[in-house]
Amino acid sequence: MMRLPWFEYRAPRSLAEAARILAGEGPAAMLIAGGTDLLPNMKRRHQSPATLVSLRRVEELKKTANGSGLNLGAGLTLTEVTAIAAVKESYRGLWQAAAQVATPHIRNMGTLGGNLCLDTRCTYYNQNYEWRKAIDYCMKVDGTVCWVATASKRCLAVSSTDTAPVLISLGARVKLVSASGEREVALADLYRNDGIAYLARKPEEIVTDVLLPPSDGWKSTYWKLRRRGSFDFPVLGVAAAVKRARDGTVEDAKLVLGAVSSHPLSIKAGDVLVGKKLTDDVIAQIGDLAESRAKPMDNTDLDLRWRKHVVADFVGYALKELRGDDMSAPRLRTARQVL
Ligand SMILES: Cc1cc2nc3c(=O)[nH]c(=O)nc-3n(C[C@H](O)[C@H](O)[C@H](O)COP(=O)(O)OP(=O)(O)OC[C@H]3O[C@@H](n4cnc5c(N)ncnc54)[C@H](O)[C@@H]3O)c2cc1C
Ligand code: SF4
Repeated sequence: MMRLPWFEYRAPRSLAEAARILAGEGPAAMLIAGGTDLLPNMKRRHQSPATLVSLRRVEELKKTANGSGLNLGAGLTLTEVTAIAAVKESYRGLWQAAAQVATPHIRNMGTLGGNLCLDTRCTYYNQNYEWRKAIDYCMKVDGTVCWVATASKRCLAVSSTDTAPVLISLGARVKLVSASGEREVALADLYRNDGIAYLARKPEEIVTDVLLPPSDGWKSTYWKLRRRGSFDFPVLGVAAAVKRARDGTVEDAKLVLGAVSSHPLSIKAGDVLVGKKLTDDVIAQIGDLAESRAKPMDNTDLDLRWRKHVVADFVGYALKELRGDDMSAPRLRTARQVL
């Protein structure tokens, strides 16, 4: 049985108190929201924080505001996010992504903020302590070498969050609060292409809000590839959002890939799609571009070359859905598995 290391547990009741504790404890403290990722990681000794600062009792993080756009509290569970009518109606890709994270039990505990700050993953890292010790660890924790690419100077662990690619495609921003103030950044700028320092968040900062612009004619979708349809992390995520004129001409488009890099990978879809209709030829063109940009590594489930190859197919499924095609054919349902 894997046991948790010892830690001090703090349970603030307000955001100000949480920020104050986090600043006071320094980098030895970590935030915990649902704990669905952090606690298993602590059992495997990926992280051993001296103090956990819990966000579960901080009501300010659980608010939703629907005005110009949609403001989602980072402390909302993924189940709560999927229950918000505005998410289902106007930000469909987010609804699909949140509804496909893990299992219902995990979505009942796991939060939106925790999903955005999810640790990067790798076959050589998501193992217990003894397993990692037997290979002399790796660069991400306790070691010096990257076993995925021994010449690599940086960790290539994979960004595996389902909601981040969609939220980036929707133009979301996030608010970060610390004891010394607050700032707002485009969600895309929260991520770094580095498996270790994967977040541009300071240790004392708390992600408090996800700010979505008005949906304003945008349509979005999320297609996820994984081995088991009701459980697994993505080995590929395709988030697509398009805004089209009445005649179907694309006015703007965003395409973001998940699980093919250490950060959500934005593809310059607008360069190919704007001013055109979503014909099969145009969709094939953007699919080929996305496939050429995706550089999955051999550090997650399923065959590396096949994962790269199906990027074009999944981009095609996403854009055909946004074009209005019926995507309920059994083969396609299997590709996405739900929704
Ligand atoms: C079996 C299993 C399957 C899973 N499948 C998926 C999947 O398919 N897709 C997927 O995306 N995830 C998956 N997960 C991972 C995880 O359950 C989810 O990502 C969940 O949303 C994490 O949220 P949490 O609140 O539990 O985060 P926690 O575990 O509490 O925290 C995760 C990280 O985020 C930090 N953090 C949490 N909240 C904040 C905040 N407000 N501000 C700053 N930092 C914060 C923590 O310090 C920690 O580093 C899976 C987990 C398990 C165990
Ligand atoms: S990509 Fe390399 S350094 Fe990063 S977790 Fe995997 S083996 Fe370790």
